[in-house]
Amino acid sequence: MTVTDVARDGLDDALLALRSEVSAPVALPGEAGYERCMPWNAAAAVAPGAVVLAAAPHHVAETVRFAANRGLQVTVQATGHGALGVTPDTILVSTTGMAAVTVDPMSRSARVGAGATWQRVLDAAAPFGLAPLCGSAPSVGVVGFLTGGGIGPLVRTFGASSDHVRSFELVTGEGELLTVTPQDHADLFWGLRGGKATLGIVTAVEIDLKPVAEFYGGAVFFDGADAAAVLHTWQRWCAGLPETVNTSLALQQLPPLPGVPEPLAGRLTVAVRYTALGDFAEAERLLAPMRAAAVPLMDTVGVLPYAAIGAVHADPVDPMPVHEEHTLLGSFTPEAVDALLSVAGPGSGSVQAIVELRMLGGAFAREPRHRSALGHRDAAFTLATIGALIPELAGAVPAHAAAVLAALAPWSTGGQLPNFAPSADPGRAARVYGEDTRHWLAALADRYDPAGVFRTGQVVRA
Ligand SMILES: Cc1cc2nc3c(=O)[nH]c(=O)nc-3n(C[C@H](O)[C@H](O)[C@H](O)COP(=O)(O)OP(=O)(O)OC[C@H]3O[C@@H](n4cnc5c(N)ncnc54)[C@H](O)[C@@H]3O)c2cc1C
Repeated sequence: MTVTDVARDGLDDALLALRSEVSAPVALPGEAGYERCMPWNAAAAVAPGAVVLAAAPHHVAETVRFAANRGLQVTVQATGHGALGVTPDTILVSTTGMAAVTVDPMSRSARVGAGATWQRVLDAAAPFGLAPLCGSAPSVGVVGFLTGGGIGPLVRTFGASSDHVRSFELVTGEGELLTVTPQDHADLFWGLRGGKATLGIVTAVEIDLKPVAEFYGGAVFFDGADAAAVLHTWQRWCAGLPETVNTSLALQQLPPLPGVPEPLAGRLTVAVRYTALGDFAEAERLLAPMRAAAVPLMDTVGVLPYAAIGAVHADPVDPMPVHEEHTLLGSFTPEAVDALLSVAGPGSGSVQAIVELRMLGGAFAREPRHRSALGHRDAAFTLATIGALIPELAGAVPAHAAAVLAALAPWSTGGQLPNFAPSADPGRAARVYGEDTRHWLAALADRYDPAGVFRTGQVVRA
């Protein structure tokens, strides 16, 4: 028997003991319920030693105390849209059993369980004409999104979605249950908005809802052959947009699968996404120069109910193996357009499903009323690549994604947002946070998680 076998036996014994100390269902590999840890991003090797199917905050607290007493690690997952590798020495808390959503129309707020997706909040809020500040994909988890700051299709109008959090319910690394608000545990309130799971497992969140029943938006799709005209027009057009208007652009190569509209399937296309509030006639007028950049293949822009906000990006819903890269741009100049076209435009040999730019600025650029660990407010655009790791492309996607970032390096700030291209790479923290923020997040983690229970995944520790 090797040292590894002895360690493995000790671990197996500990994980079996989990069942006697945690009142939630526990699934070990091969047992029913274990499959709940299979992530949306099927490329992430999520193989924890045990999955705790938490249905209440005390289940989470019991798990964390159990792990702290035995020197084990705990990680948390809702949908797995931001999944990273998890090894068998780690216990995974699945929050999907804590997905209740309650809307209070009087206070224009929602209380959202940690396992809820944005779709649930959209559905619960829509009957009251209220809107949560979700991201591009309603199938993403609310808490994972908000702890990463959250950049949605209305980011220029309202700022980061985490700027609109009212409170968190949190289980710390010592298994303590805390209600975290701007007044109570203000240090955690700062760090949870941007710090991902560094400071504990959030069991519920209370968020603002906005009185937005409709928006003017959708996407205008162009043929890839028109990419140069469309991108150069978009680059000039962005400069004059008010903050009631939000836009992103995607060079897309979508497979001919069910759900992909025929004109967009199996070819390079350019999607110009548009989301505007306020005067819809003015919003239509502002879009006109963009619509005229070339002959559109499809144009879905119009007045839509807010519940249809997911249609603007039309992100994929079903799980898939993906590789993401991401950086922030300080500017996007005509030269940057040419650089992007050379690596992701027609004839470039791009193997990415999506190369996307999102315009920032507006309300995002202003510090919120309650400061948070989310930085890079001065970035002008996000740049992201999303490639499908299917066998015929898997070898080429990461290298090409790196080439896209290298081509845009002259305009990159070197920074990254916590939510995009998640990574456990030790250098990641320095790209996501400034030095002070890293220092304070690590100091808070030492204080609230002295045993180091939360060290798996994208966490900031000294
Ligand atoms: C198709 C797609 C579209 C996206 N669109 C956007 C977008 O528009 N804007 C944007 O900002 N991001 C976007 N993202 C990124 C997304 O917000 C992050 O990946 C987010 O972490 C996903 O949260 P999740 O709960 O769905 O995923 P999970 O993989 O379950 O969680 C990811 C991470 O979130 C943290 N987390 C989750 N639950 C908790 C909890 N209860 N307590 C503490 N931490 C927790 C943990 O660090 C966890 O590892 C998108 C991702 C995809 C795949």
